[in-house]
Amino acid sequence: MSGDAKELAAEVARHLAWLRDSGIAEVDPVREITPLTPTLSPRFAGGEGDVEHEPVAREESARPEPVEGRTDGPAARRYALTDKGCGSEALLAIREDVGECTRCKLHGGRTRLVFGTGNPDADVMFVGEGPGADEDLAGEPFVGRAGQLLTKMIEAMGFRREDVYIANVVKCRPPGNRNPEPDEIEACEGFLRRQIAAVRPRVVVALGKFAAQTLLREDTPITRLRGRWAEYEGVKLMPTFHPAYLLRSPEEKRKAWEDLQLVMKELGKPLPGRTG
Ligand code: URA
Repeated sequence: MSGDAKELAAEVARHLAWLRDSGIAEVDPVREITPLTPTLSPRFAGGEGDVEHEPVAREESARPEPVEGRTDGPAARRYALTDKGCGSEALLAIREDVGECTRCKLHGGRTRLVFGTGNPDADVMFVGEGPGADEDLAGEPFVGRAGQLLTKMIEAMGFRREDVYIANVVKCRPPGNRNPEPDEIEACEGFLRRQIAAVRPRVVVALGKFAAQTLLREDTPITRLRGRWAEYEGVKLMPTFHPAYLLRSPEEKRKAWEDLQLVMKELGKPLPGRTG
């Protein structure tokens, strides 16, 4: 067996072991994944607030250093500006650094690493917890049911999905959709921090308890964090409910919509029922 084939066989074995450990006894044949084309309805629910904003310095486009002895040089990249979530030199450099990451145990179970997606110059960036099954297959954050609701939320704010940037705290799917563990967050969080610095959004929206508590380094319940401005590395941060929670508790959508309206007000977006 060639070296590549051995590596592939080992990767398959790790993946199968991970599936077994996650309690999955049968494996579906590999499917072709089509990118999400959300069919979305208009607005989803009805509040407001205010605070100052201090922008962070945008991360410099740190191109990978040339490796001595390499003939391909720094221009020979494995990733491209056209790859999901890599639309600026700074983001591309982060993607290069993430690479085919094996820094934590989640890599053994992933189909695809989910780096991020969206506008590299977005005014608003949404941060979730970590990829689920759909995202793991598609290699894009928030493409499943929760993702479709997130897209509706984004559109209700007057943006298109492609206007904003979307990423997660961890970039590989935790088995059985369990919460990411501390060592997994530690291995991944630096990349999210760099993504936020690279995009330098005016507002980060932390989706759910996990993203909010991780970014803010506190264990206050999301019910208390939501709807109140906080700050992450000099960027204004609004915690709100996770769309997956909203799917389970639709009666909470109104509160999430109030939180998003605070963000809209901060960004100068027209609020429903108002002009200008
Ligand atoms: N939930 C998340 O937190 N992130 C995703 O990308 C999908 C679902």
